[in-house]
Amino acid sequence: MNVRWHKSIAKIVPLMVLIAMVCCLARAEAAAWQGPWLYRPGMVPQAYERITDKDWLAEPGLVSECWQPFDCPGSSTPVSGDLHWATISRTISPADVKNNTLTFSTTNESVRLWLGERLIYEYGHFRDVPLGDGYRWHIVVLPEFYAPTQLTFELYSNSPYQLGRVENLELTTEMDAVQTLFWHDVPNLMAIPVCLLLMVIMLLYHHFTSRKARKLYFAIVGFLGVFALWLLCATKLTMFIFDAPVFWWYSLSILAYLLPISANLIVYEMLKGEPGTHMDLVVGVQVLLFVIAMTGEALGFHLMNRMMAVYYPLLLICESAAAWWLWRKGKKGDYRARALLASVAAFTLCGVADGLAGHFRLWNSYSYVTPFAVLAFCYFIFVIIGRQLAYQREMAARQADLEYEAAVAAERAERDPLTGCYNRQRLEELARESLAASQKEHLPMSVLLLDIDHFKRINDEFGHSTGDKVLKDFTAVIRQVLDKNKPFIRWGGEEFLVFCPHLSMKEAMDFAEKLRRLVSSRKLGGLDVTCSIGVAVWHGRVDSFQAIFKRVDQALYMAKNAGRNCVRLEGGKLPELYC
Ligand code: GH3
Ligand code: MG
Ligand code: MG
Repeated sequence: MNVRWHKSIAKIVPLMVLIAMVCCLARAEAAAWQGPWLYRPGMVPQAYERITDKDWLAEPGLVSECWQPFDCPGSSTPVSGDLHWATISRTISPADVKNNTLTFSTTNESVRLWLGERLIYEYGHFRDVPLGDGYRWHIVVLPEFYAPTQLTFELYSNSPYQLGRVENLELTTEMDAVQTLFWHDVPNLMAIPVCLLLMVIMLLYHHFTSRKARKLYFAIVGFLGVFALWLLCATKLTMFIFDAPVFWWYSLSILAYLLPISANLIVYEMLKGEPGTHMDLVVGVQVLLFVIAMTGEALGFHLMNRMMAVYYPLLLICESAAAWWLWRKGKKGDYRARALLASVAAFTLCGVADGLAGHFRLWNSYSYVTPFAVLAFCYFIFVIIGRQLAYQREMAARQADLEYEAAVAAERAERDPLTGCYNRQRLEELARESLAASQKEHLPMSVLLLDIDHFKRINDEFGHSTGDKVLKDFTAVIRQVLDKNKPFIRWGGEEFLVFCPHLSMKEAMDFAEKLRRLVSSRKLGGLDVTCSIGVAVWHGRVDSFQAIFKRVDQALYMAKNAGRNCVRLEGGKLPELYC
């Protein structure tokens, strides 16, 4: 995986998911059943007022002074004061109801549905109860009727903000009703697994990362957990699994308060230690609002919903401050702060848009757009992962460089720079290794000591540089016939040791003779050069390196005395064979 791969994924995947989510939402919103509707405050009167099609089309003002045109069932009724009842109505004809299933949703509203003067559906308490009526989807199958008639919603709510809101209203077939529910839910249903996946990734990161970065990952996991739960509560299909409108409504409200708090804990971790930032204050204010809302709700003031009037402006102020601080940090080159800024901006804009539509009624929208913001968060997480991987790769490359340099330095420290042979520093270790290799398989070991004949003369006659060249060529020629099990060491000046594990005395003598002949057969530094070789054999456990080195030195001395360009074994044995 390289960084470019991550960058492409970070852009393409969220974009594709965004397009899919928008398509689903457009499909869901297109199905809504628009007006024309009439509205009047209060309950359905005892003597039901009929409004005929003719009256309605002539002039709504003539119909009744109490009735007013009403734009869209998605809006709340224009109530004032402490009003709790409202009635909305429209004419339908049998032709309208070839699709006979009415679907709509209400929030903390009790609803009675009348077809003409027949009560066909009823939900809720129709009085101020402590927990309200919750968030509820209604699917009502209309009974058959013949003449054009009135479809009337009689609504009760303890909150004027909620009164008259009949959302997601659609007249359709039963199958289409369920499908529309599904299309509404698709953005949520797509965002939930994304959240869970990101949570798993972040949990893994949390587990494997350094302690310093853990708090940030923990905050991200916490936020994703809250967001996933919020998405679940905002999903309409949950009512088929667990039909508890009050539970879903309260869960959704509580999580709505917890969302910005948990998101700001990420920003808090990101900006920790950054001068001039006050994320603790931001989080503190939002926690305070949550506590007030919860306490007010518990005391029966319905503050959970009412505090939303403070929640959204506060959200805008707090997140603007957080965004400003993140931008400042991002400008200093902090890539994570920049990516988080995009997420904070996306969540705030989507959250405020949902607030303006859902709470302040500035426009009608049947679905939340906040699930879309998870895509910006995906981008943030991809950036974190991408950068983390790049950092790890860089570290691994640096470590490899360091290891290589250390190996080169170690090699240099133990090698002779002129000939490339091991120097005397490694002597003891190599001798031990060679001996161990032989001991392991109960085999003998031999040592050769090679010395170039009359080397001083070469230096004197041809110069020191020619002498160096001879040394280089000499070692190169010898190295051609050595395997990696036979270490080659510069003992000093023009003297070299070769350890021969596994070689018996006879084999070592043969090998030494082979080397001697090889040297004398070649031009070294452009000259005819010969060498003398002493051979010593390891005598078993009682023997020591010092003793071996002494014996091999004596063997070489004997070779020199024998006239040079020959091989001698320790103790002067077999001299006749090798001269
Ligand atoms: P013998 O046949 O008895 O071995 O005689 P020799 O001249 O080879 O032996 P001797 O020990 O007298 O001389 C070794 C010389 O090697 C002495 C020294 O100047 C030379 N020498 C040692 N190290 C180097 C080196 O790195 N480069 C060069 N060019 N000469 C070196
Ligand atoms: Mg010498
Ligand atoms: Mg010599």
